[in-house]
Amino acid sequence: MATRASGTPSKAAVYARISKDTEGVGAGVQRQVADCQNLAESLGWTVADTYIDNDLSAYTGKPRPEYARMLADLADGLVDGVLCYHMDRLTRRPKELEEFVEALDAAAVKHVRFVAGHTDIGTGDGLMMARVMGAFASHESASKTRRMERKWEQDALEGKPRRSGTRPFGYAADAVTLVPEEAAIIRQLVDRFLAGESTRSLCVWLKEEGVATTSGGNWQTSTLKQILTSGRIAGYREHRGVKVAKAVWEPIITEEQHRQVLAHVEARKRSGRRAPQRYLLSGMLRCGRCGNRLYSSARRDTRRYVCQAGPDHFGCGRLTVVADPVERLIADAVLHRLDSPQMADALAGKVSSDERTAVLSQALEEDEAQMQELAQAYAAKQIRMSDWLTAKKPIEERIENTRRQMDRMNGHTALARVAGQGQELRQQWAGLNLERQHAIVKTVLDHAVIRPMTPGVRKFDPNRVAPVWLV
Ligand SMILES: [Zn+2]
Repeated sequence: MATRASGTPSKAAVYARISKDTEGVGAGVQRQVADCQNLAESLGWTVADTYIDNDLSAYTGKPRPEYARMLADLADGLVDGVLCYHMDRLTRRPKELEEFVEALDAAAVKHVRFVAGHTDIGTGDGLMMARVMGAFASHESASKTRRMERKWEQDALEGKPRRSGTRPFGYAADAVTLVPEEAAIIRQLVDRFLAGESTRSLCVWLKEEGVATTSGGNWQTSTLKQILTSGRIAGYREHRGVKVAKAVWEPIITEEQHRQVLAHVEARKRSGRRAPQRYLLSGMLRCGRCGNRLYSSARRDTRRYVCQAGPDHFGCGRLTVVADPVERLIADAVLHRLDSPQMADALAGKVSSDERTAVLSQALEEDEAQMQELAQAYAAKQIRMSDWLTAKKPIEERIENTRRQMDRMNGHTALARVAGQGQELRQQWAGLNLERQHAIVKTVLDHAVIRPMTPGVRKFDPNRVAPVWLV
């Protein structure tokens, strides 16, 4: 279950493109991807998939299969943010920019970031960038976009395949006809995955067997996971991440197997593997001048948290603090707090959390079932599109609300495990890994504001740190 702040992309796309103008072709694309991944990390986004197009032809209108796949994934809700090295990697002509903005609008995705580029309106590039930014900010979507969105929704509800993108593995180019050899591979992958084999090991196996992806790229665990967990292979049509209809194509695995795969993925998630953390207070510090998030940054061997300004950040860029003393101060305060009387008070009355979680998850299940019934009623033409859209709105809100509550409950459970253990944790602290330390800090600290430096004071001043406690 997501425990991130709402609005932070949890399945971002990294898009890179090799073209004639990229210096040192291979290295160029590696750097684009690596820089995007770093940006994702600093923003706290999770990358779900990487899309790389080889666009070496001089003809700029050449189709870009991976780009098309990304747009299709946006439409299907598999992607909720886009990272790209530079505007010029993403779109090659103004018309493509329009299409990209339309696709974003239709998918209600607003998170797009570039590693490089300027918002200087004076340059042609800056102008384009400003237009994109303007389009993201605008809440009105053009009627053309709405028509497109309806068409996509209509197709989805009728169980028809989406119209663009590379063909799905296991199916021919029409996305409906089975490719028997690939279907057999999918069945084997599912069996082995359910038997406990990791996606990494399965990717290695695919490579050894010489099995190619449909876009011709290398197998990545994210791509494989997307195939294994997709409703598509179990004969469901999904739209924006929700199963909306029985598909017109033949399933490769059974519904039962599909449910088992999802349960297996969920269980692995719960067993707790997350992206490695490099800074104890990543995402938890705010600038005392402008209120924006501070980012980790190392300069000349000194780790720091800084307020970043510039095109990809919105801070004032006028505040920096050396990481070490702040981290020591906060860790110390957290450990003290865990043993404080407030903590005992905060924990009282939260014992029945298991029971509460059960109630919440049942509510969630009922709402999700209702969503599906509605979609089916629409598909069977029992209700009109407008009624369907109106009816699903309150349910979606309820689902969102329940999810938030469940996240909070998870927080309580985590706290219950460490409350009163400050003394003990202090002795082990240095030996705990960063992820564990971060998790402990997060149980009690919402964030800390770093105040501006007092002019003339060179030494670290503890008064600059103002923690805002959760409990
Ligand atoms: Zn600032």
